[in-house]
Amino acid sequence: MAKKTFSIISLGCFRNTYDSEVIIKRFQNKGYRYVCEASQALDLMIINTCGFIEEAKKESLTLIREALSLKRKGRIKRILVSGCLSQRYRNELRKSLPQVDEFKGVEEFEIGFESGLKLTTKNSAFVKISEGCINCCSFCAIPLIKGSLKSRPSKDIIREVRFLNDRGVKEINIIGQDITSWGKDLGKSRGFSRLLASIEEAADKVSWIRLIYTHPKHFSSELIEMIGKSAKICNYIDLPIQHINDKILKSMNRGISSDKLISLIKKIRKTIPKVALRSSIIVGFPGENNKDFQELKDFLKFIKFERLGVFVYSREEGTRAYDFVPQVHPATKKKRQRLLMEQQKDIVAEFNKGLLDKKISVLIEERQNSTFIGRSEYDAPEVDGQVFVKRKGLKIGHIYQLKITDYFGYDLIAE
Ligand code: SF4
Repeated sequence: MAKKTFSIISLGCFRNTYDSEVIIKRFQNKGYRYVCEASQALDLMIINTCGFIEEAKKESLTLIREALSLKRKGRIKRILVSGCLSQRYRNELRKSLPQVDEFKGVEEFEIGFESGLKLTTKNSAFVKISEGCINCCSFCAIPLIKGSLKSRPSKDIIREVRFLNDRGVKEINIIGQDITSWGKDLGKSRGFSRLLASIEEAADKVSWIRLIYTHPKHFSSELIEMIGKSAKICNYIDLPIQHINDKILKSMNRGISSDKLISLIKKIRKTIPKVALRSSIIVGFPGENNKDFQELKDFLKFIKFERLGVFVYSREEGTRAYDFVPQVHPATKKKRQRLLMEQQKDIVAEFNKGLLDKKISVLIEERQNSTFIGRSEYDAPEVDGQVFVKRKGLKIGHIYQLKITDYFGYDLIAE
């Protein structure tokens, strides 16, 4: 008898991509056949949703409705909705979308090592080391959705790293809600640095270990030293700061002052001179006035993050900031986001200009006609730039030292 077929749409962050890989393995274990092309007739369509902020919720609902219209046309037999939107609004969704066959929350796909299909390129993989978060930022719905911090057992993580290492993966991206607090729920104060040392040891054939989603409050000097000394841990750090104004940082419950943030960044840059820092910023947080915003804008111009994501504050019910006043007008939020992204373009251009005629490490990931496309050590998957290489005979999945000859926007040209 032919196996039942299923496909999955994975929305939101890298953590959801990882969860989708776990879900795929679970359904393959149940005897389903995975098809990546959702255009085929399917027995089951899974939509692994994001429910973090307003925009993400809207995107998830649009995809569910599109799947429902395919179901009405008989192209899909059953629809399962999982992930953060389902976890957060399961009862409301059941009432408003009764045609959906099943709603599952995040906890029903407990993370654990599953040697299965990867949704990333075969040379790059995510390893999720924890679920949930202890930081309770006042704007964030994640603790409402995923609960408090649950660190994965280190032996489980190392088993997965060894599996990926033996499979020839070149890049391992370490993810979680806040990877720097790994082990704090297990009573391990220096847990993350120790875990990272074990990961580095187990990943002897891996070239890049990338740290994504750290928290400045938990970023230890020991960790900075480790990254500075390591040949494998990328000179790339994702360090979301969200803001720099002390009043706003306090109101966000970020647990760190602007002085501490600035000295941390200075220490990282001094210890790891070639580092590319990625950060995330929220504009339009309740109470942010023009002077606070100007302070943030001037700070970003001074600190020059090589990579930056700017998000408008999303008022999320159930979070403490939901009731904070004054809320900022949506048009003002959008304007502030635009002003920071415009400024960031110049900062990125200056960074790229500084790479001209220099050789950097580039992981080749695909080929389009005669052009190879890859990412540098300074580019995380999907969210950062790419490197375009006009050279013959490169191998996909290999890392080359390539000379940068030009740039446009966030991308580089190499030979
Ligand atoms: S650290 Fe990140 S995931 Fe945790 S509460 Fe703050 S914003 Fe949310």
